[in-house]
Amino acid sequence: MTHPVADTLAQVLDTIQAAEQAANRPAGSVRLVAVSKTHGPETILPALQAGQRLFGENRVQEAQGKWPGLRAQFPDVELHLIGPLQTNKVKDAVALFDAIQSVDRPKLAQALAREMERTGRRLGCFLQVNTGSEPQKAGVLPDEADRFIEDCRALLPVRGLMCIPPAEGDPGPHFQMLADLAARHGLTELSMGMSGDYQAAIAAGATLVRVGSAIFGAR
Ligand SMILES: *Cc1c(COP(=O)(O)O)cnc(C)c1O
Repeated sequence: MTHPVADTLAQVLDTIQAAEQAANRPAGSVRLVAVSKTHGPETILPALQAGQRLFGENRVQEAQGKWPGLRAQFPDVELHLIGPLQTNKVKDAVALFDAIQSVDRPKLAQALAREMERTGRRLGCFLQVNTGSEPQKAGVLPDEADRFIEDCRALLPVRGLMCIPPAEGDPGPHFQMLADLAARHGLTELSMGMSGDYQAAIAAGATLVRVGSAIFGAR
């Protein structure tokens, strides 16, 4: 018998493959970031044993508690920070993660650049855009995005853009806005789509989908 997490992971991977095909995109053009926040090693292990290697966490401290142990067993894990990052946690984040998906303000970009310079660790960065201009949400506002992207590219290894559309309403226009912005700047990676909308995100060009509850269950 397989672990339930191995089953749901396989279903999500199948759905990604079908969505790639439906969008006439090459197989393997979308990578799954398995979002393991709030879940312990006992829930994450079956996903690792099933071959999943790319994971997302939204809190530095929580990730520090569980990933060093898991990495000792699976050294080829790739870990992305997908949640807000305070500048006083930059040092810890650069030491632990392989990519930061939540670069959302100049001060953070500068702190990350300094720490990467100091340590020689070059983490791939995604710039988070608040496509819905929601006051409570992180991310640079659409009006300020062009400038922010240019400034960050002078400082950091920018791989692409990331967004979290408003919880209500059609996410499609938000995915499209992010795709257009990335294309305008010649950025090829788009982190967008979660458990409820990753198929729509793939149709709009996502190269990374961040899926948590559809794999690991409700939090
Ligand atoms: C929690 C989280 C996800 C995953 O959400 P699900 O709906 O559980 O798939 C994706 N992205 C970010 C930034 C998150 O915080």
